[in-house]
Parts: sequence; C-alpha cells; structure tokens
Amino acid sequence: MESLAIYAARESNSKGRVYNENHPGHRSQYQRDRDRIIHSSAFRRLEYKTQVFVNHEGDMFRTRLTHSLEVSQIGRTIARALSLNEDLTEAICLAHDLGHTPFGHAGQDALNKCMKEYGGFEHNLQSLRVVDQLEEKYAEFPGLNLLYETREGILKHCSLNNARNLGELGLRFINKQQPGLEAQIANIADEIAYNNHDVDDGLRAGLLTVDQLCECDLFREQYAVVKNKWPDLDPKRTKHELIRRMINKVVDDLIRTSRQMINRHDLADIEDVRRADQSLISLSEQIRLQNLQLKQFLYKNLYRHEKVMRMTEDATAIVTRLFSYYMEDASRLPVEIRHRLGQMPDDPSSKLKARYIADYIAGMTDRFAIQEARGVVTP
Ligand code: MG
Repeated sequence: MESLAIYAARESNSKGRVYNENHPGHRSQYQRDRDRIIHSSAFRRLEYKTQVFVNHEGDMFRTRLTHSLEVSQIGRTIARALSLNEDLTEAICLAHDLGHTPFGHAGQDALNKCMKEYGGFEHNLQSLRVVDQLEEKYAEFPGLNLLYETREGILKHCSLNNARNLGELGLRFINKQQPGLEAQIANIADEIAYNNHDVDDGLRAGLLTVDQLCECDLFREQYAVVKNKWPDLDPKRTKHELIRRMINKVVDDLIRTSRQMINRHDLADIEDVRRADQSLISLSEQIRLQNLQLKQFLYKNLYRHEKVMRMTEDATAIVTRLFSYYMEDASRLPVEIRHRLGQMPDDPSSKLKARYIADYIAGMTDRFAIQEARGVVTP
C-alpha cells in the first residue's frame, strides 16, 4: 500500500463501515471487502444469470459471473498502472452486478414496470441493497458491512429521489460530485468488458458478422492489423487476436488520458477527486467516439437482434407473471420472506410486500425463475 498515489483510497482516509469491526489483521480492509463479496450467495448466483445470452443457450457465452471477472481483471490493470487501490477496484468490479435480475436488462425493465407504483426497481441500487441488507451471513450485522468507498463505487448511478434516502452515500448525486477514482475505473472497465465480449459472443452466436462489424472504426483498424500480420490465420484465432487488441487499445488510451487528467487537477487526496467537476478516468476524444460507435452498433445489431428480442419477450412474461402471482397471495412466497413480512408493521399500500417480492425475484437465477414460472397457472 506504500506505493499508492496520494489521491488513492486508503485505509487511513476511509469513511469506514456502518458497524465497527476489528482490523482484519493479515489482510487489508479492502481485501476483506473483496473476500466478503466473493463468499456471498449473490455472487455465486451470477453464474446462472444472463449477460446478453440466456444461460442455457450455450456454455461458451458470458454469464454475469464471467462478465464480472473480466471487468475486475481490466479494472485491476488500470488501477495498478495508475497507482490506485487495486483491492478496492477489484471489490467494486466483482460486486457491480450483484443486484441484476435474471434475464439481463429485459428482466430489470420488466421488474421496474411491475414495481412502478411501489418505488420502481433499479438494478444498480439493488446491488447496494444486496451488500447492505439482503445477504444474511454475519451474526453482528445485516449485509456484508462493506467500507464506505466500496459502497460508493457499487452505487454507480441512482435517481435523485432514491439518492435523498441514502444519507451521505446519496449526496454526490444531489451535489453532482464524483466518486473515488477506483469507482470511476470500475465504471469504465464494465463498459470496456461488455463491448468487447459482446462482439466475441455475437460472432460466436452467428448474430454478427465480421463484414458488418467493419462499420466500426475500432474493429476495422484492429482487424486490418491482424489480417496484415497473419493473413491465413483461422477465424477463431483471428477473432481472439483482434479482440485482445481492441481491449488493449482502449485500456492503453484510458491509462494515458487519465494520467494527464489527474496531473492537470493537482489532487491532494481523495476528497479532491470527489470535488472535481468531472470524472478524471477518461478516454481521449478519438477513442471515446470509437467506443461509442461500437456501443451504438451493438445496441442496434445485437441487443435489438430478433433472437435476443425473443428472449426479452419471454423474460418479460416470466418476471411479470411471477410478480403478480406472489402479490396476489403472499403465502406462496418462501418461508423466510413470509417471516420477514410478518415481522413488519402495517403495510396498507403493499409497498413493503412488493419490495420483498422484487428482492426475491431479482435474486433468482434464470433457470430458477423459469422453473418457478412453470408452476404458475396463467388465468
Ligand atoms: Mg456489468
């Protein structure tokens, strides 16, 4: 930890945990957070949750778990290169999708619709709820009792309404401030990871073609480099050589540009990072535009592809059906949730009941949700 930059998150300037605990001894406080995340049930369930392709469509596609590992690997590289807190970056990256529903964004949109009258559903806020409340593991506190900086990083965005209920953690959204640099890294590492692995998975699934992807500058340039060097290389290895170059190009640019931004801002500590008028972990204008072009391409050609959209329709039906099934009759819920509901005072507007049901559905894996919905008879 000696070599950390002065503006990195450190144990000595951490805002600490909600419940006081002894120092973990042979590990740093940030390593402890990472370990708690890896040992959580929500983390294990990521293995069976959709990233873009439904888990049972094939064993080679990314799941939320492998996505989170790739985000963490990219995030750690960037953090180390910038002398920032690698353990904290890793913890945030591994936890960033813990609140995701089954069936990817389609599941989240469906659950948000179901929850419209009850305060809505945001997957990012749900990730925080998982680590703050829903993981029931420790005798002395609810959740994982993570450090403020880890929680700050997990909460990437949230609506102003929700920010007002989050105390100190919500203030940055109201005051338009930044999170620490480690959180900023996790945010962009997420995007770098999914842009590139979605190209990989999209090609593997046959939903995207090389010709089509050559519309994107980032892809076309690196494809030319690989083809030039190895004109006869087989398609599988060409694809891998190409994608590793695309990731490298963006990560290199990010490290170089962020270093310049940080130097320009004359930061004395993490508070200066939080007060800065913009995110300091950033891409050069040229690569930002190339990255954006790829993102928009994927949105149009992969996420809106009819095969992916068909999955979306199924997901919407399953989530919606489950939500109304439990809302109609809470005795259909598992005993722990019924017990928790029973302990609550009056809930005339059913807001609490709806929230607990949303927690339950959000925690489901794809296949569990499919199985559960099978038992539900549609009227
Ligand atoms: Mg993600």
